[in-house]
Amino acid sequence: MSVLIFAELDEGKLRKSSQEAIYYGAKVAEMMGTSATAIVLGEADESELATAGRFGAKKVLHAGNARLNEANGMAYATVVAEAANQEGAEVIVLAKSALGDAMAARLAGKLKAGLAANVVDLPELSNGFRVKRSIYTSKAFAFTELKAGKKILAIKKNTIEPQETDATASVESFQPMLNDSDFVLKVTSTEKATGDVLLPDADLVVSAGRGLKGPENWGLVEDLAKALGAATACSKPVSDLDWRPHHEHVGQTGIKISPNLYIAAGISGAIQHLAGVNSSKVIVVINKDPEAPFFKSADYGIVGDVFEILPRLTKAAQAL
Ligand code: FAD
Repeated sequence: MSVLIFAELDEGKLRKSSQEAIYYGAKVAEMMGTSATAIVLGEADESELATAGRFGAKKVLHAGNARLNEANGMAYATVVAEAANQEGAEVIVLAKSALGDAMAARLAGKLKAGLAANVVDLPELSNGFRVKRSIYTSKAFAFTELKAGKKILAIKKNTIEPQETDATASVESFQPMLNDSDFVLKVTSTEKATGDVLLPDADLVVSAGRGLKGPENWGLVEDLAKALGAATACSKPVSDLDWRPHHEHVGQTGIKISPNLYIAAGISGAIQHLAGVNSSKVIVVINKDPEAPFFKSADYGIVGDVFEILPRLTKAAQAL
């Protein structure tokens, strides 16, 4: 009986959401009186894999086959299911990321496991296996009890704050059975996201909407993001108009994020936009219309013109 955590890499480094998942998994293992093992897929440096120990993993299984370099929900679910069976894992933890979404249900099917997604807190073990989940785009919480059998927990990003130690994890090679049928889905090309900070994992996000008037004005958003070390995002119409790439679109039909700080400039705050950002810890809204609906969800509101406010915020951030 153990806890297995699937950990994702980004450019060879453990993703922040996976550090959170490892820390969460290690805490669950501690509660269950067992140990936590992480699994990483694709070629990677052993020294980086060992850093999983800083977040509580005792061991890392490394399936370093080059066929696994491209994230592939089908093949990854097969490999992680095989590892879970080998390790006798009762609990499997992963981040609620795009890849986590592509894997979780497949994994649950393969392992005949119960699945709880958007988990925001450690489970209660005294009363079965009860987990708290965020639902209805973070407007409410649900408590879900997972009965006997294997359990899969997909952890909502930025809800668990990992405490790091100096520990390192031992790294073991894992040679899974790879079936061609799992590779029918092929990644033909990849495009690097713009900006220095990856949006889904970002702590700080500067986002803008149609109030910016056109793509030629996005330098104002990028300057503030750069000064803060933030990622950039946008509303749906902005990406539909090709002012910004689609991977920056947040909301019901885009990426769902939960940064510590979300700055929304010239965005009205439609319900579909809020669905992707309303679990941000602090929301700052800049809008020239004092009646803009977004102000109702804001922690701080600035009624003003983005063309005046954004440069002033950038200047202030640069002076920090
Ligand atoms: P607008 O609604 O045009 O708002 C622009 C805002 O900028 C206004 O509030 C205005 O007062 C302000 N403004 C203008 N000029 C200035 C200035 N100089 N200074 C300061 N403020 C200024 N939207 C999403 O974002 N994400 C989604 O995932 C999404 N999914 C959708 C799914 C469905 C099924 C549907 C029907 C819609 C979806 N939408 C989504 C669209 C959503 O309903 C809104 O239309 C959209 O969010 C509006 O974008 P916006 O705020 O950038 O533009």
